[in-house]
Amino acid sequence: MSCFRLENVSYRYDKALVLNGVDLRLESGEILGLFGHNGAGKTTTIKLILGLMTPSQGRVSVLGGEAGDPHVTQHIGYLPENVMFYPQLTGREILNHFARLKGAPLRQVPELLEQVGLGDAMNARVKTYSKGMRQRLGLAQALLGKPKLLMLDEPTVGLDPVATADLYRLLRKLRDEGTGIVLCSHVLPGVEPYIDRAAILTDGALKAVGDLSALRRQANMPVTLSIEP
Ligand code: ATP
Repeated sequence: MSCFRLENVSYRYDKALVLNGVDLRLESGEILGLFGHNGAGKTTTIKLILGLMTPSQGRVSVLGGEAGDPHVTQHIGYLPENVMFYPQLTGREILNHFARLKGAPLRQVPELLEQVGLGDAMNARVKTYSKGMRQRLGLAQALLGKPKLLMLDEPTVGLDPVATADLYRLLRKLRDEGTGIVLCSHVLPGVEPYIDRAAILTDGALKAVGDLSALRRQANMPVTLSIEP
């Protein structure tokens, strides 16, 4: 099943064309890396898939429906960059709150906190969490309700190498269970061993999309490709 499909999508903020004729798709059970420099249009693409904005041109379909339809959005997990939580609440209280908002069963909360490595810290206030622990809490939030489509913006920022490896192991497991996953990043090195396909955005246009071996054969890549995993 298709997780999302963007067909000839453009988006304008006032007069600025920030996405220009983008064609992009993600299938279930696939990890897509979405790469590009600051301002390339990654977050705009994510917001269009979430249905927070409508395209100026083109079509966005998500999980067999329209982007923004609540029946569709409830199956999407999203971890934004620099996620913020109320510092006075515990990790468990925060996740309980998001579970209620999403209509996800509360019993998932301790399971997810264990899964992301916060089992021992779930009853501590978030103000005592390190950056990496906050990032893991953000990931647990995104995983509530067992999303069919998971979109993560720079998910490894603040994570040490062990936690990063744990995260990718978890993402591969979810991928193998059928979840479609988008990983946004500024840089390809470090991420490439974990993705199935890559899409490279430059100034709002898709410069390249495909599996990594095909991309490596293309010249003039806007993002440095490290060949060795
Ligand atoms: P980053 O890696 O820095 O998060 P990005 O690839 O996610 O960047 P976007 O946030 O999608 O890029 O931004 C694409 C372009 O749209 C940029 O030129 C940005 O300045 C512009 N832009 C983003 N949000 C707005 C807004 N609310 N109003 C006007 N322009 C905006």
